[in-house]
Amino acid sequence: MGLDTYDLVVIGAGTTGAYLARKMAKKGHSVLVIDKLPKTKVGRKYDIFHIEAKEFDRLEIPRPAEGDPAWAFEFEKNYNADPLNRFPKCQINPMVGLHMHEYTLLLDGLAEEAGAKLLYSCEFLDFLYNDAGKICGVKAKYRGREKKIAAKLVADCSGMAAAGRTRLPDGYGVDNTPLTDEDMFYVILKYVKLKHPEDYLEGSTFWAYYKAWIAPCADPHGAIIGLGACHSYEYAERVLEEMEKTVPLPEYDLVRIEKGRTPYTQNPSSMVADGFFVSGDAGNLTKSVNGEGVTSSMVQLQLAEETLDSALRYNKATREYMWEINRAYNASQGAEFALLRALLVGVVNAANFEEFQYAFESGIISDELLNAMNGASIPPQTLLNAAKGFAGGIAGKKIRFSTVKAAGAALKNAVEIMNHYKRFPYGEAGYDEWAKKADALYERIGKIN
Ligand SMILES: Cc1cc2nc3c(=O)[nH]c(=O)nc-3n(C[C@H](O)[C@H](O)[C@H](O)COP(=O)(O)OP(=O)(O)OC[C@H]3O[C@@H](n4cnc5c(N)ncnc54)[C@H](O)[C@@H]3O)c2cc1C
Repeated sequence: MGLDTYDLVVIGAGTTGAYLARKMAKKGHSVLVIDKLPKTKVGRKYDIFHIEAKEFDRLEIPRPAEGDPAWAFEFEKNYNADPLNRFPKCQINPMVGLHMHEYTLLLDGLAEEAGAKLLYSCEFLDFLYNDAGKICGVKAKYRGREKKIAAKLVADCSGMAAAGRTRLPDGYGVDNTPLTDEDMFYVILKYVKLKHPEDYLEGSTFWAYYKAWIAPCADPHGAIIGLGACHSYEYAERVLEEMEKTVPLPEYDLVRIEKGRTPYTQNPSSMVADGFFVSGDAGNLTKSVNGEGVTSSMVQLQLAEETLDSALRYNKATREYMWEINRAYNASQGAEFALLRALLVGVVNAANFEEFQYAFESGIISDELLNAMNGASIPPQTLLNAAKGFAGGIAGKKIRFSTVKAAGAALKNAVEIMNHYKRFPYGEAGYDEWAKKADALYERIGKIN
C-alpha cells in the first residue's frame, strides 16, 4: 500500500484546526485533519465558552441561534467592578455563549463540507523527514497501527499539548519548549443555580483584582462563577475562596465544577519552519488579558491564509517563504497582546486591594476608559478625569508611591515592547537580534504573581 499523501496535515480537530482545514480545503488543497480523540470526545474539555457577537462576521464563522445545538445563551452587558462590587462600570458588547463540543463539531463539519478529510482517534506521534532533514509528513497511530502520511506542510493545532511543536528538533526554526506551570492560567468554573429570582443575571461581571467573574450559563436561573490564576489549581482555589469571602455574590447552590488550563504566555515569535506551521493554543495565541484563544487564533489564520495558500500551491512551504506570517502577526495582534500583557502584569502585581477599590470609586477606571480598551477612541476628558483621579489618590494617600512608580514602569515597558513587535523583521535576517531583545523585554516585564 502506498503512502497517503496530502498537501496539508493538521494535527488537532479543535476550533483552530477545523478553521484552518476549512480555509485550505476551500482553496482546493488536499487536507487531512487528525485528532487523537474520538468524535464523541472532541471539544469536551469544558462546556461553555464565549465569542463576541461582532467576531462572527469578521472571521466568517457560523453564528448559532437559539435552538441550535451549539447555542447556549446571549447577553450584552459586561460589568467591570471593584473587589467590593460597589462601583460597577458597564460596557455594552453583545456576547454569544456556546457549547464547546457542539461548536467544534459544527466547524469540523464545515471543514469536511469544504473537502477536508477528518480522521478521529488518530494520534500524531512524530514527524517524517526527507533526506535533507526537512519535515515531509507525520507518523501517527490509528487503530493500534502506525501510519505514515506524507504532506507538504504539517500544521500543529493540537492545543496546549503542542504535540508537534514540542517534538521539533532543537534549532529547527520554532521554539520547541513545552509550557511550564508559570506559563498557563488555571481556570476554575463553578456552575451554580441562583437561589433568588432577583439575582438572575442580565450580563457578566469581572473583578480584575481577583481575575474572577460571574457570567450567565445555559440555565437562565443559573450562573458560572469563574476564576483564573497562575501557578496551580490549588492556588486558584485559594484565591477563589478569598474572592467569595469578599465579593458580595448572590446566594447559590453548586451544580458542578469544571477545571481547565489555557496558555498564558507569549507566542513563539517564529511560528513557521520548513514544512511546519503552528496555530491555536499550541502556539500560545491566547489573549493576554484573559487567556481566551478561540478567535485570536482565527485572527492569526486569517493573516496567514494567503501565504499558506501560495506555499502549498507552489510547493514552497519553507520557513523563508512563509516568514510573512510571522511579520504580519507579530506586527499587529502580537504587538497589541504584548502591550496589554506588560500593562496587566505591571498593574496587577503592583496595586493592592484598597488601590483597586479607589481606582473604581474615583473614576480612574471609567465606562469610557473600558469602552476605549474595547476598540472605541478615548475622549480627552476621560484621560483628564483618570489623571485627576490619580493625582487625588496620590495627594490623599490612597495610592502608594511604589504603585505609581510601578504603573509608570509598566506603561513604559508596554509601549517599548509594542513598538518592538511592530518592528518585527521582514525576513529572517535580523531576527535573532530582534528575538534577543524581545526576550530581554519580557524578562523585565515579568509574569503575574
Ligand atoms: C475553562 C476555560 C474557559 C475558556 N473560555 C474561553 C472563552 O470563553 N472564549 C475563548 O475564546 N477562549 C476560551 N478559552 C480558551 C480556549 O478554550 C482555547 O484557546 C481554544 O479552545 C484552543 O483551541 P485549539 O483548537 O487551539 O485547541 P484545542 O481545542 O485544545 O484542540 C486541540 C485538539 O488537538 C488534539 N490533539 C492533542 N494532541 C494530539 C495528538 N498527539 N495527535 C492528534 N490530536 C491531538 C486534541 O484532542 C484536541 O481535540 C477557555 C479556556 C478554558 C480552559
